[in-house]
Amino acid sequence: MSRTAVNGDNCLINGSLIKEILPRLVALRHDLHAHPELGFNEHRTAKVVAEFLRELGLEVHEGVGKTGVVGVLRKGSSGRSVGLRADMDALPIIEQGTPDYVSTHQGVMHACGHDGHTTMLLGAAWLLSKTGDFDGTVNFIFQPAEEGQAGAKAMIDDGLFTRFPCDSVFAVHNWPELPVGVAQTRPGPIMAAADRFDIRVYGGGGHAAQPHLSPDTMLATSELVVQLNTVVSRCIDPTDPALLTVTQVHGGFSHNMIPAEATITGTVRSFDLRTQDIIEASLRRIAEHVPAAHGLDAEVKYHRYYPATINSEAEAEVALRAAKNAGLQASFAPKPALTSEDFSFMLQEKPGAYLWLGQGDGSPKPLAPLHHPRYDFNDDIIPVGVRWFVEVVLSQLIPDSPGDCPINPSISS
Ligand SMILES: [Zn+2]
Ligand SMILES: [Zn+2]
Repeated sequence: MSRTAVNGDNCLINGSLIKEILPRLVALRHDLHAHPELGFNEHRTAKVVAEFLRELGLEVHEGVGKTGVVGVLRKGSSGRSVGLRADMDALPIIEQGTPDYVSTHQGVMHACGHDGHTTMLLGAAWLLSKTGDFDGTVNFIFQPAEEGQAGAKAMIDDGLFTRFPCDSVFAVHNWPELPVGVAQTRPGPIMAAADRFDIRVYGGGGHAAQPHLSPDTMLATSELVVQLNTVVSRCIDPTDPALLTVTQVHGGFSHNMIPAEATITGTVRSFDLRTQDIIEASLRRIAEHVPAAHGLDAEVKYHRYYPATINSEAEAEVALRAAKNAGLQASFAPKPALTSEDFSFMLQEKPGAYLWLGQGDGSPKPLAPLHHPRYDFNDDIIPVGVRWFVEVVLSQLIPDSPGDCPINPSISS
């Protein structure tokens, strides 16, 4: 059974306790930042996580979905359970920022703040293991390979929810567009489904000075790029959010040759299956006919790699109220983002919610957004991120007869 009511006067989150662990958490975050690892290669990170959890006395399971780690904390006798998830992987980006803890792994960088997410979840594990008037099981899920490799799905396929049952699941992502102290979520879609397409245009090739003897691969490909940009504006209901962006065009290697082939790659974002179907069908039709009009052939590969991230209504409410209890200015997000997230796979299995946690300076266009080579996670939000995770647990695993509060109820982190 899951509960959606948040215990507004719980006494388990203690500012002085968070302050006690904060220097260690900040040092840990900097250490993770200095040692970023790409998806399914988070061997050092997973070891750090597992050792931290073991030190707390949690039951620790490594190698779940390759490099994933699950820590289990049980209290009381209830069969209720909640899953809290953080991602551990970094990106193939050369860091341009110069913090003291700059990446020591050339070409790899924590440019999405997963070092911060991992740190905040470890902080919540620390706090809930030290104190916490809850009754049930908390599964701390540290997943690999969020950045495009579906690490969440790898963990699910490896039996995540059968081995570690969860009534509901929750995750947080730092959000540079929102200021520190602000959090948002929403029921229903919060992040888009992400598809990738690759189109190969082929069948031409010849001397650049004899265009009458060969179809022009480059001309057809250029025209195809333009036509693909009409898919959303001409085929999709203008009130439905959707996106198609061409991100790569490759072709040719000489100034005097018409290349035999050229390729186009791009991404599609949408929030419902019907829109996704229309975009794929339209893309396939245009990709076939535009090259054909030039006497060329085309091969299309279309891969739907992440579904839309859909929060369940009750759990979105839980996430929002937990954020308020954690001292955040929390509200429903007016609209979803077209970025994507593989937590979506977990939300296909379990009710749950995903929260955006502000980490910016209030500028709606941050200087270093997510995935930027100068991006850095903001350590100032570690305490409130820890508290949000803890508040979620307290709201979901309320004891039937709450015991006496062992800790000073002041909240002052
Ligand atoms: Zn990212
Ligand atoms: Zn991310």
